[in-house]
Amino acid sequence: MGAECGEDLAIENAMSPTPVDRLRAWREAGGVAGPRRNPIEKLSDNPTSLRAAVTAMCFDCVGQDADPAWQWRVGNCECSTCPLHAVRPHQNQVGRRAPAVVTDGE
Ligand code: SF4
Repeated sequence: MGAECGEDLAIENAMSPTPVDRLRAWREAGGVAGPRRNPIEKLSDNPTSLRAAVTAMCFDCVGQDADPAWQWRVGNCECSTCPLHAVRPHQNQVGRRAPAVVTDGE
């Protein structure tokens, strides 16, 4: 008797830890977050991810983290001729006030 379509996936999902389980395990382990990784470092975990690649490219384009608030600078990128402009990350930052570290108090 063969497995029903999707049965294997259902079993796999039932065995996967839920976000609550992962949070509980994280807290039991001391709740200490690991070092923050930049988008280029994260891309190495999943080099075929288009989203990770675009984010890494934009991060690099704005000078990585040489200046603060790279997310705001990418989100407010005005280079509309860039092929990645429409899919750049952090577009939720458009129209928001620049962080004080970007405006330098001006
Ligand atoms: S969308 Fe803007 S930040 Fe991203 S690669 Fe293009 S020019 Fe750079």
